[in-house]
Amino acid sequence: MNFELTKEQEMTRKMVRDFAENVIQPRAIDLDVKAEFPEDIFKEMGKLGLLGIPFPEEYGGVGGDTITYALAVEEIGRVCGGTGLSYAAAVSLGSSPIYYFGTEDQKQEYLVPLAKGEGLASFGLTEPNAGSDAGGTQTRAKLEGDEYVINGEKSWITNAGYARSITVTAVSGKREDGKNIISAFIVPADTPGLTINSNYDKMGVRASNTCEIILEDVRVPKENILGDPEKGFGQFLYTLDGGRISIAALAVGIAQASLDRALAYAKERKQFGKTISNFQAIQFKLADMAMEVELARNMVMKAAWLKDQGKPFTKESAYAKLFASETAFRSANQAIQIHGGYGYMREYEVERYLRDAKLLEIGEGTSEIQRLVIARQLGC
Ligand SMILES: Cc1cc2nc3c(=O)[nH]c(=O)nc-3n(C[C@H](O)[C@H](O)[C@H](O)COP(=O)(O)OP(=O)(O)OC[C@H]3O[C@@H](n4cnc5c(N)ncnc54)[C@H](O)[C@@H]3O)c2cc1C
Repeated sequence: MNFELTKEQEMTRKMVRDFAENVIQPRAIDLDVKAEFPEDIFKEMGKLGLLGIPFPEEYGGVGGDTITYALAVEEIGRVCGGTGLSYAAAVSLGSSPIYYFGTEDQKQEYLVPLAKGEGLASFGLTEPNAGSDAGGTQTRAKLEGDEYVINGEKSWITNAGYARSITVTAVSGKREDGKNIISAFIVPADTPGLTINSNYDKMGVRASNTCEIILEDVRVPKENILGDPEKGFGQFLYTLDGGRISIAALAVGIAQASLDRALAYAKERKQFGKTISNFQAIQFKLADMAMEVELARNMVMKAAWLKDQGKPFTKESAYAKLFASETAFRSANQAIQIHGGYGYMREYEVERYLRDAKLLEIGEGTSEIQRLVIARQLGC
């Protein structure tokens, strides 16, 4: 076994860390307060090739692997959970399904500009009445001549307000056994009948753009169906497996930031004539945080490695997502505790880490759903 990163992976990590610390970190508090999506930062990230890390050069990407991409998500998440979430969603949910399942024409038209960082894409699966039970989708797509006509509603779709295209799932027919066939469709964001509202007032990840989408007689050419029309459900399960690695990486970033801040503060803050890092109660908190961050990162790297090797990774990505998101929440909570009253104040940032970390236990499959995925993989 080899736990060392390659030279390229190390270089990308350093480059993203520099960018995150110099460009994103100084604005993180402000983006959170104003709930502002940093469009300009995404343009810069595009120029650096970050939006194309896991895609081949022939499709506008930089030909990196999942490990490199996970390292980039961690570094961005370390300074701003909201920017990290939008970055992870853009690559894993927006672009990746087109790369995995798109036709050559779809890749040229939609993936190439995304990988080059010339725009963002979204993935619209969740609906007001279909969340964890994504198979219960109520959006409908009907073939009329050479076009599909789509009607329905999607909730909490990341980046949709800034997207060039949105891949939406919809029921397109019935199987012989009476079950719904769910297909995925690429819908350009300027298609008539598509309304995108971004009015949510969120607890955390406030720099991330989150939208409600209404589809009223939205017409797309039948060529816009993504991949196998009969296998839309399986396709989005695969997409979510990959996305979970990036959510887990984002969680590691927040957990690491919590540890870094708590450790630095514990070494400075004096009570009872000594720094609080001298108290064993504080040391034990820091020791547990450090151990859990290390474990979570190893799980992310293993899931990413399995994906890169073309091996099954469903169980490992669920392990990583579940453990890392719960680690991030615990670490952020302990970081606030170690900061005492200062930790409750916005300027110390650890309270934001907690608010941002909470989303990671919900999005891309709640913790309960991760446990279900793992149990199924165990044969339950
Ligand atoms: C900021 C944000 C960004 C998001 N971005 C996107 C996006 O880009 N694209 C997208 O499609 N969706 C997105 N989502 C939606 C997200 O994936 C869902 O919120 C999530 O899957 C949970 O669905 P739900 O909210 O409907 O909860 P529900 O499914 O209603 O769950 C409610 C509770 O019941 C539990 N529960 C449900 N079923 C079971 C079960 N079988 N066993 C045990 N417990 C169960 C859940 O774990 C949860 O605790 C986003 C959400 C947020 C908040």
